[in-house]
Amino acid sequence: MARVYNFSAGPAMMPTAVMERAQAEMLDWHGTGMSIMEVSHRGKDYTAVAKKAEADLRQLMAIPDNYKVLFLQGGASLQFAMIPLNLANEGDTVDYFNTGVWSEKAIKEASRFCQVNVVASHSSAIPEMSEWKLSPDAQYVHYTPNETIGGLEFQQIPDVGDKVLVADMSSTILSRPIDVSRFGVIYAGAQKNIGPAGLTIVIIRDDLLGKARVGTPTMLNYQSAADNDSMYNTPATYPWYMAGLVFEWLLDKGGLSAMAIINERKAQKLYAAIDQSNGFYANPVKPSDRSWMNVPFTLKDAALDATFLAETAAAGLTSLKGHKIVGGMRASIYNAMPEAGVDALVAFMHDFAQRHG
Ligand SMILES: *Cc1c(COP(=O)(O)O)cnc(C)c1O
Repeated sequence: MARVYNFSAGPAMMPTAVMERAQAEMLDWHGTGMSIMEVSHRGKDYTAVAKKAEADLRQLMAIPDNYKVLFLQGGASLQFAMIPLNLANEGDTVDYFNTGVWSEKAIKEASRFCQVNVVASHSSAIPEMSEWKLSPDAQYVHYTPNETIGGLEFQQIPDVGDKVLVADMSSTILSRPIDVSRFGVIYAGAQKNIGPAGLTIVIIRDDLLGKARVGTPTMLNYQSAADNDSMYNTPATYPWYMAGLVFEWLLDKGGLSAMAIINERKAQKLYAAIDQSNGFYANPVKPSDRSWMNVPFTLKDAALDATFLAETAAAGLTSLKGHKIVGGMRASIYNAMPEAGVDALVAFMHDFAQRHG
């Protein structure tokens, strides 16, 4: 059975080399006669796997020593609540950029715990700095660097002065190098660009620990995870191991600067195919703010959508149906999507437009 080019937004395609390694190690991990998923998280075998994964992630992202890396559960969606619980008190003001669906979900959840000030709202572009309304007393500023559904991405880290910057990097983490020292907290669900679903990574500057509001459940307090090497309770051991294999694979490929070159090129090829289609395909986002990871596009005639999806699937190009909120198509092209997959999609799109244009 050949593997298809799977353009799913998440859970998303995993690198084939990583899957093969996991398969080879599945029944007998390093001569133990057990799978790594069958061993205690507190034993020396698993502890070594966990520590290696963290060290490799630190190396990949050049994470400074004054940041903790936490391996949690609950997805990015639980972070929407953990951020305000850990960084602000009831009645405090917190600043949020609204650039799309995921920003809105984060805002809605934070509003249950704090006073949310919306700094700026998007249309089909990242809001200009001149439009931002930062509040002087905000405990932190939250933004979504890459909107997975709208396909809108900040190409620069917003300059919020000395405010604590918090970022939901679920769909852009590891796609390029970033300066971690600009952030107070970075969080990401694993299932887009890190590994399998079930793991959430939080990178937090250590002076922000220990500030959770009174009444915060132990499991939702970053301090509990930080004090216990993310093993206050049983962590998602197998996804953590798989993430570690992905980190090794990324280091092998030359790290994030090497990935950034490939990722930018993949995205440019796809946007070029859309922009040079004489209107057969369209993407609504301002070109300078287009996502490298999630490329939504519509067909001129929505009546062709079903044919497009059936023919792409038959050609081994799967999961291209757009999110129901925006319709049309979406190609998610995370690190694990080979450039050959993008080339195959681009070739298909040209051919389809010729036949139906
Ligand atoms: C997928 C996604 C989420 C939701 O992640 P879960 O892990 O399912 O909670 C949140 N934010 C962004 C930007 C996402 O892409």
